[in-house]
Amino acid sequence: MNNNDFQIKDNMIKEEKVIFIDRDGVINEYPGDKKYVCSLNDFRFIPGSIEGIKKLYEKGFKLYIISNQAGVAKGLYSEQDLEKMNKKITKELKKNGVSLSGIFYCTHHPSQDCGCRKPKTGLLDKALSQTGAKPALTFFIGDSFKDMEAARSFGAKPVLVLSGREKISNRKSWVFEPDYVFDNLLVAAHYICAHYG
Ligand SMILES: [Mg+2]
Ligand SMILES: [Zn+2]
Repeated sequence: MNNNDFQIKDNMIKEEKVIFIDRDGVINEYPGDKKYVCSLNDFRFIPGSIEGIKKLYEKGFKLYIISNQAGVAKGLYSEQDLEKMNKKITKELKKNGVSLSGIFYCTHHPSQDCGCRKPKTGLLDKALSQTGAKPALTFFIGDSFKDMEAARSFGAKPVLVLSGREKISNRKSWVFEPDYVFDNLLVAAHYICAHYG
């Protein structure tokens, strides 16, 4: 066996580490209940979110953004608007030497009953199929219980951040207790890197 054979074998054995990240309320500011981020003007990064993503990336996690954007089906903004926001995110990450493995949106209307609108797991299934990871070794970092429920049905570790929709004062009404609760993505990233990196 030469060195190349060893390398190939090593790569096959090594588990891929995957983290799914919701967008609004986690990476960029939460627009408010029943409100949408309709254009670049409404899009503002949450302080530390880029740094958090960078930490996870540098620890070797593959990163996917998984986001419901029913505002497209409702005619509030277009796929092109989403694309502009993607560019803003990827540009900012690129400056930090980071690249995402994918950005997946559900743009359907809730009434369309599609398979990809969270809490359904269609987008997670799609992302995972691009990797060699097992669901049980993945995390889903989100700010709402739609994210937590999607994580739970998928088999990912649910990680709730309090930088968006959910507040700690709602805790009594949470349908279940997520595996982890952190103030924001940066704190979540520190913990995950320290314990699962
Ligand atoms: Mg959200
Ligand atoms: Zn959908």
